[in-house]
Amino acid sequence: MNLKDIKAVKALLSTPRKIVIIPHKNPDGDAIGSTLALCHYLNNNGHSANIVSPNDYPKFLKWMPGNEKILNFESKNKQAKIALDEADIIFTLDFNHLGRTGQLAPLLEASDATFVMIDHHQAPADYATVMYSDVNMSSTCEMVFNFIDFLGDTDKITPEMANCLYTGIMTDTGSFKYRSTTSQTHQVVAQLIEKGANNTTIHNKIYDTNSPSRLHLLGCALKNMVILQEYQTAYITLSQEELDRYKYQKGDTEGFVNYGLTLDGIRFAVIFIENTEEGIIKVSFRSEGDFSVNQFARNHFSGGGHDNAAGGKSDISLEETAQHFVTLLETYKEKLNA
Ligand code: 5GP
Ligand code: MN
Repeated sequence: MNLKDIKAVKALLSTPRKIVIIPHKNPDGDAIGSTLALCHYLNNNGHSANIVSPNDYPKFLKWMPGNEKILNFESKNKQAKIALDEADIIFTLDFNHLGRTGQLAPLLEASDATFVMIDHHQAPADYATVMYSDVNMSSTCEMVFNFIDFLGDTDKITPEMANCLYTGIMTDTGSFKYRSTTSQTHQVVAQLIEKGANNTTIHNKIYDTNSPSRLHLLGCALKNMVILQEYQTAYITLSQEELDRYKYQKGDTEGFVNYGLTLDGIRFAVIFIENTEEGIIKVSFRSEGDFSVNQFARNHFSGGGHDNAAGGKSDISLEETAQHFVTLLETYKEKLNA
């Protein structure tokens, strides 16, 4: 964030404000962790802040301090609308354009609140008065730490906030292993542990809460994996029927896509998940090295994200989507084998 923006934020927050903080639809650990930490910070400093989530999120994120106060736009619609109506300032966290908030988007577009964006995705849209956008950051949680630091307030980071921020950095970096993880990320994490983040407990709460049915669904996904050595690619399909058979709960497929990359010689991994309720196939892309899945998702699946992790969707059937994907690979053969 530049000096001008830091000054602007200081001016904005110089008197008590009504604030709403928004994560993207289907929020992940970074989205929930960053919005909660910022919400604690603002409320501890005289403001009245609320979080409005576009929809529900996985159970393994619901232990974070402050979770019970998050307004789910679907189940607490009235309260969420009031909070949005009354907001002087709206912080948007962990997404790059308002379309990522689903049914919240029209309300945000119509709002006359002052917008502040904190985000690390590529190609940020131009809707915010203050934009703290940095695609080189590991996570929005690392950026919220920096944001508080820019305001000279790291001494105000409580154990609650530290636990939320640690969670988002851990989940968005694949437990500190992705390329986006820098020495600076580790320095931030070190400070968060000093401030009370309980790293072992957080890891257990996020990763060690499997149900038998989720492991069976993983077994099904791995059996369905198609390996295309000639394109250094592996993809998985999961139909709605399979999800139902293994009693799918929100968040159960989190991390499945990564298994493809654990194969020797595979650098591009994809999962196609049927969602009959929304009438779409949700797609997740992961890569190792220089192959940009952000570009691939943008070009062919109405999506985007980061160079090595992106998402998108398809409106045709699961089988047709997978077939279409395989035909696309031919045009990328050189890049995939580079
Ligand atoms: P995931 O595959 O875990 O859902 O998402 C991977 C990354 O891509 C995340 O940073 C996420 O925010 C982003 N992403 C996922 N789906 C979409 C999408 O439909 N559009 C855009 N622009 N980004 C997405
Ligand atoms: Mn993120």
